[in-house]
Amino acid sequence: MNRPTRPQLLAAVLLAAATGITRAASKLNVVTTTADLAAISREIGGDKINGDSIAKGYQDPHFVEPKPSFLLKLQKADLLEVVGLQLEIGWLPPLQTQSRNSKIQVGAPGYLDLSQFCQILDIPTGQITRAMGDVHPLGNPHYWLEPNNGRRIAKALQNKFSEMRPADAAYFAQRYADFDERLGAAEKRWEAKMAPYRGRKVITYHRSWPNFCERFGLVVVNYVEPKPGIPPTPSHTLELINTMKRENIKLILVEPYFDLRAPNAIAQANGSQVLVLMPSVGGVKEITDYLQLFDYDINLLVNAFSKMN
Ligand SMILES: [Zn+2]
Repeated sequence: MNRPTRPQLLAAVLLAAATGITRAASKLNVVTTTADLAAISREIGGDKINGDSIAKGYQDPHFVEPKPSFLLKLQKADLLEVVGLQLEIGWLPPLQTQSRNSKIQVGAPGYLDLSQFCQILDIPTGQITRAMGDVHPLGNPHYWLEPNNGRRIAKALQNKFSEMRPADAAYFAQRYADFDERLGAAEKRWEAKMAPYRGRKVITYHRSWPNFCERFGLVVVNYVEPKPGIPPTPSHTLELINTMKRENIKLILVEPYFDLRAPNAIAQANGSQVLVLMPSVGGVKEITDYLQLFDYDINLLVNAFSKMN
């Protein structure tokens, strides 16, 4: 048997290196607008994807300040996942255009709007005017805050990842089945915890929680914002203080990125309680995945309700 010549050895080393590069490059580069979509992407994509979100979980997803690093992410993306329903309309379209990445433009195979797979609430009927505030004309975009919509997102991602990486389809199917099973077990746990408090009335700051509240049996009576996206006004705040007294409402749910002055003033006036509920993975450090998001919020709610009459 002949020993390999130096050029042959070199060729073998180069080939191995090239194969390594090809393998690394074949990881799907997934960029999401929100941390929740990134978290579900990681559940399904495992080590076959790089999943990175633009907005952090503690930021208001309606208003994200563009940074040069976002452009770099979008330039390298194979797939851009968005919440849609105009949630990102204030900041995403110019970034998409400036990225000059044809793969992720609206309508391209690498652009995925997850709202189309989910149950959407608050779809307005009739004419929308500016006087109504920042109403989302296509329906409420905070739909990921309901576990069954999380499952629908996961299924849509399984299908999309499999379409883009057919060789890994069995892997994505297995990851989906595992996620679905863990989510199903968690849903039973969450429902059991919330069952004693079904029908409790709450006030929320923004209209972030219709899907969550419907699923877990809470009734949202009014909002700290007088209209969607409009900051609190003294007259509306006074009205809330009275409504809450009259209807015996004890909880005000606030997203972490809103000013606490109006909610605190209401709580002080009528003896209610302000709870800062997390709308997204990464809202606080300990929420690192989609299931932990619900664990965190439901524990907070149950803890508050259990101390009330
Ligand atoms: Zn909103």
